[in-house]
Amino acid sequence: MTTDRKRRVGILGATGAVGQKFVELLADHPWFKITAVAASERSAGRAYGDAVNWIGSTPLPGGIAGMPVSASEPGLDCDFVFSGLDSSVAFEIEGNFARSGLPVISNAKNYRMQPDVPLLIPEVNPDHTRLIKSQTFSDRGYIVTNPNCSTVGLASALKPLYDSFGLTKVIVTTMQALSGAGYPGVASLDILANVVPHIGGEEDKVETEPQKLLGKLTDDGIRYADFAVSAHCNRVPVLDGHTECVSVQLAERASLDDVRQAFESFVSDIDDLGLPFAPRPFIRVLPGAADPQPRKHVSMHGGMPVWIGRLRPCNVLEFRFVVLVHNTVRGAAGGAILNAELLVEQGYL
Ligand code: NAP
Repeated sequence: MTTDRKRRVGILGATGAVGQKFVELLADHPWFKITAVAASERSAGRAYGDAVNWIGSTPLPGGIAGMPVSASEPGLDCDFVFSGLDSSVAFEIEGNFARSGLPVISNAKNYRMQPDVPLLIPEVNPDHTRLIKSQTFSDRGYIVTNPNCSTVGLASALKPLYDSFGLTKVIVTTMQALSGAGYPGVASLDILANVVPHIGGEEDKVETEPQKLLGKLTDDGIRYADFAVSAHCNRVPVLDGHTECVSVQLAERASLDDVRQAFESFVSDIDDLGLPFAPRPFIRVLPGAADPQPRKHVSMHGGMPVWIGRLRPCNVLEFRFVVLVHNTVRGAAGGAILNAELLVEQGYL
């Protein structure tokens, strides 16, 4: 991939929490440049800098602030779109863009479990992009999705274990950051000095998406991985970073050292491709007794690795450990950008 012709990128839902993360992360991207931003009718027609309530910790990139916000309708000046659309509108709008002939790289839940739509983590299932060929939106338009932000951490951590030993049972308890609820998100009086032990629809996604991600691509589509997940999802007063306490039952016998070795030696199929957003290594195992922690680790290495710590035996299932993932970077915008980089590398973009 040369940088002499950058792909022109549109962002749907550009004013939201994930949309803003796209704007921030794409500012200096070597392969992609933002040429269109779109949102709801509330924002359309205004300059992006006026329409957005910028919540990033870096300044709003100058070149984007004056860009007009478009309505979320096909006809944007771009080669493909990233979507950070609210799920209440994503099904219709993303479908319209795909039918109009544009590839859509989405964060929304709506198409994730559709049999012909790849649910993608490049380090986990890069071959699943072959499903694109069976989509019927239009000649050139298609949809690729990334998983729920907690699923990204969980499925990434399960990948080396599933490949090496198989899995039968997984129990996960999440402590999910506020930025995962978008903007303005959870009311401050509900979450300050508190934990909310319910996130609507979240447990269902965390319990079903890993089996598609770790499933096998066959001529008849994805054959789902065969293990059960039980999830407890909680909202906690953390800004960025979902922490997940995981217990697993493996299908084959393994020692604690075997499991540690599987995490530490994991090499993904995309490690040699030199994709700009791919962290190396992807999985980072921390030795500290009280790690990983959102404030200490979540933004290191651009927020793209998946962090694992506290690996130890479990008294109920076999092993337990803690996973940390940056929800708006690896779990959303950064993950979607890496998906697009893989699609460029594979010739789909
Ligand atoms: P958000 O902050 O609420 O942003 C929603 C975006 O959708 C805004 O740009 C909004 O535009 C736009 N929108 C709303 N109604 C619209 C309409 N009728 N037509 C066109 N655009 C409309 O939400 P978010 O947290 O960024 O999440 C975006 C998507 O990513 C959701 O599907 C979410 O489930 C998914 N996701 C989020 C995370 C995370 O960590 N936050 C992680 C993974 C996946 P206006 O500003 O003009 O209203």
